[in-house]
Amino acid sequence: MASLSHPPASSAIAVLENVTKIYEMGDARVHALAGVSVDFEKGAFYAIMGASGSGKSTMLNVLGCLDRPTTGRFVLEDQDVALLDDDDLSEFRLRHLGFIFQSFNLVAQLTVRENIELPLYYLGWDAGESAQRADELAERVGLADRLEHRPAELSGGQQQRVAFARALANDPLILLADEPTGNLDTSTGKQIMRMLADLHEQGKTILMVTHEPDIAEYATHRLYMRDGLIDRIEERG
Ligand code: ADP
Ligand code: MG
Repeated sequence: MASLSHPPASSAIAVLENVTKIYEMGDARVHALAGVSVDFEKGAFYAIMGASGSGKSTMLNVLGCLDRPTTGRFVLEDQDVALLDDDDLSEFRLRHLGFIFQSFNLVAQLTVRENIELPLYYLGWDAGESAQRADELAERVGLADRLEHRPAELSGGQQQRVAFARALANDPLILLADEPTGNLDTSTGKQIMRMLADLHEQGKTILMVTHEPDIAEYATHRLYMRDGLIDRIEERG
């Protein structure tokens, strides 16, 4: 039944309805998500905040299709994710989502260009086209002169810029970031945040976990979690 307070479907890019994620630890059951319901607006920039253990990463992993809910409904771009089998879910993730992690998660053996190309390789892109796309993205993040380098030869900030370029390779619908500045010094972290803010201004939807209020300032919405539930959402005035 339609509810008047419910925003129209077109404005929400991701919808969680009473989503739980329960981890069994021996006899104990951890309710990492305890029944979360929320509509994420298309084009918004969310900072997901809250104490350690409140469920931030678990929610981001569900939203990023890295993990499935235990119960509840998750709709992403009008697709009910529960209806996709594991292969289709991986394919959906590869086509439509981009990720940045606190620890960069680059492949040590691959060059900068190869790291950026990796999602395109899995998507079956032509080698010449994916190399060209990687070079454009490296240029965009200021690493055009580092294409043949390997991650160990780069600073933390440079590595995160490679990860940023890799996350954009498939021109994702949503960029998901888990503490993207957590391993960076303040000024390097600000560079990454300015890149995220620019991306948001160009219309990208961004979901970012952070526990730092300064970092959350860049977002349009601050979503606070507590004990596996959403405590409140504040929209920037
Ligand atoms: P946050 O990112 O806010 O610090 P998490 O989402 O990582 O919190 O964790 C939420 C709760 O779920 C915590 O109690 C954590 O210990 C638990 N948890 C997270 N992942 C797992 C897992 N793979 N197995 C068991 N418990 C987990
Ligand atoms: Mg976390």
